[in-house]
Amino acid sequence: MAAKFDITPLNDWGFFHLPPRPCVVAGPCSAESEEQVMETARGLKAIGINVFRAGIWKPRTHPGCFEGAGVPGLKWMQKVRKEYGMRICTEVANERHVFECLKHGVDMVWLGARTTANPFLVQEIAEALRDTDIPVLVKNPVNPDLDLWIGAFERLAAQGVRKLGAIHRGVSSVSKIKYRNLPQWEMAVELRSRYPELPMFADPSHMGGKREYLFELSQRAMDLGLDGLMIESHCNPSCALSDAAQQLTPSALIELLEGLVVRDAVTSDEAFNEKLSRLRAQIDVLDENLIFTLASRMKVSRSIGDLKKENSVAIVQPSRWDEVLDKAAASAAAYGLDTEFIKRIFNTIHEASVAEQNK
Ligand code: PEP
Ligand code: MN
Repeated sequence: MAAKFDITPLNDWGFFHLPPRPCVVAGPCSAESEEQVMETARGLKAIGINVFRAGIWKPRTHPGCFEGAGVPGLKWMQKVRKEYGMRICTEVANERHVFECLKHGVDMVWLGARTTANPFLVQEIAEALRDTDIPVLVKNPVNPDLDLWIGAFERLAAQGVRKLGAIHRGVSSVSKIKYRNLPQWEMAVELRSRYPELPMFADPSHMGGKREYLFELSQRAMDLGLDGLMIESHCNPSCALSDAAQQLTPSALIELLEGLVVRDAVTSDEAFNEKLSRLRAQIDVLDENLIFTLASRMKVSRSIGDLKKENSVAIVQPSRWDEVLDKAAASAAAYGLDTEFIKRIFNTIHEASVAEQNK
């Protein structure tokens, strides 16, 4: 059973001011050199970004790739803090990283996706952060496990961390998809509905994996009402030592941010609220009807299962299912519905039906 915990609202962190959305954390995937860090920070400061990110210890898939600058990189970040007055943040993956960050005055840390997936590391990091007041952002784990993500917040909260935030960066996928990660927005939506007070960021950079997808993913995050974005930005992306394809120059970043359409999550316009609630009431009735229809269908499906069993007939008859799908697709088209969407729904219904008949 997930525990509730105390969360300090984003406005009280002193990092961002809401509204307007999005709150932005930006900076290179990795701190590579003092020049690259300072040049990128200068560009970001110039477009109004106040929270600077850079990876100091990089979790790489293969050994031998650039694994981060380590402690010297923290000195470059300190310089960013001093010269540009920006808040600085980096990824921590063990207690040693936390101690180094605290020693070097890092303002905020985040847990990477691979770390969130490991409760031992999360516990160790949480204990190292005990009695500090720095904000901690937690990326979703690499796998689509919402409880594992929530467990990380619980471990941090149990050590007294109150300035907590989530970063949704999508999950690994075995199938070939256009993005680097499967967005799996439903995980973010579910977390939001369970913990509405938890600040939420999206990371379109790691989700998309390519510059061309960053805008649509950022817009989606805004449409879902998320508070902020963590975006990778580099003074010279094509020469980046990690994640070169997904980083933006500061000027491309401001172009992206200015293009976003950010709608208020709530409005005080009464006529609008009245119309919206009437339409929502209609949706609620239709949803109830859908459930009723599905339940009725399942009842018939169970009777078919019994009949097949009495007559020793196999549960799945592919030709029959092809016919059902074709009919559904034709009927969907007649109503102007997307046939692929209807086929997906019918296949899901069919799977549940077969599972029921197998009982
Ligand atoms: C990162 O933010 O640089 C990073 C490694 O991301 P993730 O943990 O989401 O893979
Ligand atoms: Mn990266």
